[in-house]
This record gives sequence, C-alpha cells and structure tokens, in this order.
Amino acid sequence: MSTIDPSLSIANPEPKDTDVIQKLGLALSGIGVLILFLAWGNLPIPKTVGLATAILSILIGVSIYSYRLYMKQPEGIKNNGIWFKGLTNRGVLGWMVGIVLTGFYVLLYWYPEYIGFKSTGNEGLVALFDPLSMFFKGQPASQWFVYGTLYTLAIVSLGIKFLYKYRHNRYQTLRTISVMIAQALFAYFIPEILAGLNYNDVTTNSGEYLGYYNTDIKNIWPLDYDFFHDWQQDAFRQEAYQPIGVLFLIIGIAMFLVVTPVLTYFVGKRWYCSWVCGCGGLAETAGDPFRHLSSKKLSAWKLERWLIHGVMVFVFVMTAATVYGYFWNTGEVFGLNIYANFQKPYGFLIGAAFSGVIGVGFYPMLGSRVWCRFGCPMAGYMGIIQRFKSRFRITTNGGQCISCGNCSTYCEQGIDVRAYAQKGQNIVRASCVGCGICSAVCPRGVLKLENGPEEARMDLPPIMIGNDSFKVAE
Ligand code: SF4
Ligand code: SF4
Repeated sequence: MSTIDPSLSIANPEPKDTDVIQKLGLALSGIGVLILFLAWGNLPIPKTVGLATAILSILIGVSIYSYRLYMKQPEGIKNNGIWFKGLTNRGVLGWMVGIVLTGFYVLLYWYPEYIGFKSTGNEGLVALFDPLSMFFKGQPASQWFVYGTLYTLAIVSLGIKFLYKYRHNRYQTLRTISVMIAQALFAYFIPEILAGLNYNDVTTNSGEYLGYYNTDIKNIWPLDYDFFHDWQQDAFRQEAYQPIGVLFLIIGIAMFLVVTPVLTYFVGKRWYCSWVCGCGGLAETAGDPFRHLSSKKLSAWKLERWLIHGVMVFVFVMTAATVYGYFWNTGEVFGLNIYANFQKPYGFLIGAAFSGVIGVGFYPMLGSRVWCRFGCPMAGYMGIIQRFKSRFRITTNGGQCISCGNCSTYCEQGIDVRAYAQKGQNIVRASCVGCGICSAVCPRGVLKLENGPEEARMDLPPIMIGNDSFKVAE
C-alpha cells in the first residue's frame, strides 16, 4: 500500500518539470563545465583525464537531462513557459549567458593569452586541450583548436537534445543528424587529421599548412572569406601537399561556383543553412531555445536587407582586391593597401565581431540567427538565387489557418509567416533558411516546405477558401 507524504507547503517548492534524474543530468554536465573553468584558473588538473571527463560529462549529462525532459512527455513540440523563463525571455539569466558568451569570444579573438594560449607553452584552458591536439596533429593546442572542440561539442550535445524534442518530425530529425555529422566529420575530425598529416611532414613544411579552414570543404567562400588570401593560396599550391592541396582548391571553387547555385536552385538555401553549415548548425541546436527572440519589426527587415547585401558587396570587393594583389604580385590596388584597407577591416568587423561576438554571443538577446539573417554573405548569395531562380517555396493551406501566430513567433528569420498563411500565399523569401520550424509548430498543418515548378510559385492563389473577403487583383 502506498503511503502519502504530506506537505504543509502551500506552493510546490519543486520545479514542475525537473525530476531527480534530470537534476543528476544537469549536475553531470555542470561538473564538465566546472572542470573547464578550474583548468582555466590553472588548477592542477590532470590534462588527459580532465579533458576526457569534461567532454564526456557534458555529453552524457545533457543527454540524460534531455531524455528525461522530453521522453516522459508525449511527442510534439513543447515550448511551454518559454516567455516566462529568465534564460529565454531576455531576463537576468539570459543577459548573464549573453555576457559570458560575448566575453569568451572577445578573449578568443583578441586576447587568447587570457585563456592560456602561449607560444612558449600553453597554460590554463588551452593547455587542457594539449593532449587532444597532440593526438591529432602532434602540436600543442591553439585557441582555435579549443574553440573548434567546444563548438563541435555544443552542436553534438545540444543536437541530441533537439532530436528528443522534435523526435516526431522526420524533417527535423534528418536535418539535425546531418548538421551534427557535417560539423563533427567535415569541420572537425577530417581537417584536424589532415592538418596532422601535414604537420608531420616537417622536412618539407615551410611554415604554411593546409589548416583547419582550408580543409573544411563545407566552409564555402564567401562565408570562408579568406579562401583567396595569399597564405591559403600558397598552402594549396605548395608542392608538399600535392595532390591534396590542388584538390581542395578545386573543391573550394566548385562549391561556390557550381554546387551552391545548383543545389539552391533545386531545394533552396536550406540545403546549406539548415543541413550543413556550422553557423546554422549551432543556431539550430544551441540556439533553439532563443529562436522566438528574433525581431519581427519592419525596421529589422529593412536593416536586414541593407546589412546582408552590404556585407556581400564588401566580401566581393575585398576578394577582388586580394586576387588582384596575388596574381599581379602587388600589395596595393588603386593606391590602397590591400591588407590594411580590405582584409583587416573585413576580418575584424565581419569575420570576428559580427559572426562571432554578436552572432553567437547575442543569442539570448537577439535570437539565434542574427549572423545568418543580417550578415552572412553566403546566405545573401544563396538568398538571391532562392528569391529569383529556385524551385523552393513554402506552400500554405490558407483555409486551415487559425491565425494562432506560432509560425511567425518561432521563425528565427523574423518572417511573418502567418501573414502569408492567412492569404494562402506561397512563401518565397530570400531570407528563409528552410529550417521547417514554422511548419513543425503549426497546429493545423498549414505549411509545407516543397520543391516544384518555378512557374507561378509567387502568384497569389485565385480562390481563397475560408476567406472570401479577400479579393485578388486581376
Ligand atoms: S519561414 Fe519557416 S522555414 Fe523559413 S526560416 Fe522561417 S521558420 Fe524556418
Ligand atoms: S502556425 Fe499555422 S495556424 Fe498558426 S498562424 Fe501559422 S499557419 Fe496559421
């Protein structure tokens, strides 16, 4: 016979959604994060054991927490209370996370010595990653190796959380597995192993190497803005790296010139933004709890168009100057120093401050796709194709729409999806990344991501079922 444990508490002191196993999961991941902070503070933590424990604790802890959180509930998306939690309603917790993330990016880009990176021998956080870096490439870790490892860990562990949350939805499941594999394999393991193979070739290595970004084939120009920079081109062409060097050069050029426009024509920019890209991968997994924070203001839409296309023009001009300087063997174009006037400002303003510090650090304030929406030149490039020459569209069954607004709320690109649904109009927007969340959260099955004939994909429908007050202009 069960016994009742009476409590005289008027309110329930236990958080409604958090049981003991979830707390254990949280504690385990907390231990992993704590180890990273202790190492940062130079406490004498055994490196190999410490790093392995930190990574596994975070991975297993987040998995246990997410499993309990979502699997004890029926299938379906639950964003319950999202506007009432400090982390996700721009509350105190959100600001704290934002400040920590932003601060970490500032240290990473401009003051790596504060996280322990030292050319004479690493300390602190960076030193903790030395054994893993030695394993891959026989060199001590750099701040970028630390960043790449943590970035991959975030996508994989929070990707597992995402998979539990959206487990009923095949599209969400497939594309999340895709971004997890793309990050872990193409952006992390393969480039690190290839870098290791070249580092080992010390007799012919003249200082350049096919580094992290060169061999990440999914990091495509113009997102990979320094693809044409001298040091990269020198490395691609260096004799010691053949035939791999030239192969990566050809792959890199083919990716933006052929693969990108062709795939975007057939399926829209979602093939990259929501299935492959590392920035998109982090936004979709780690950024999932913040997607509703994207601004839906008209002014944001206007700013978006100016900014994203402005960055795109900037990267084209910077690259043209770089290529000119490389082939004509001059450091100047029209009397302007190429490094000081083009490469350096772009690297600082866009490559570091915008894509890193603001793009990720501001998730809890501005939503998860700030960079993808306002800055990414790759998104700008594919957006033009998607808008004017693509088979992709989101179709809307307007008669079924109950105007609940879920779709617009959770669109991370700030698109007013509901306005299209109410009119029964196809959504053809340059900024749509095809994440499919609008469709997933719609309680009426109104929205469908489709590829079809280009003809008439932007026309208004002739008949509006369930909305006869709407008149279509002839
Ligand atoms: S319109 Fe839908 S598919 Fe496109 S970005 Fe917004 S939520 Fe994602
Ligand atoms: S979520 Fe569905 S029902 Fe709600 S406004 Fe959007 S299209 Fe209409």
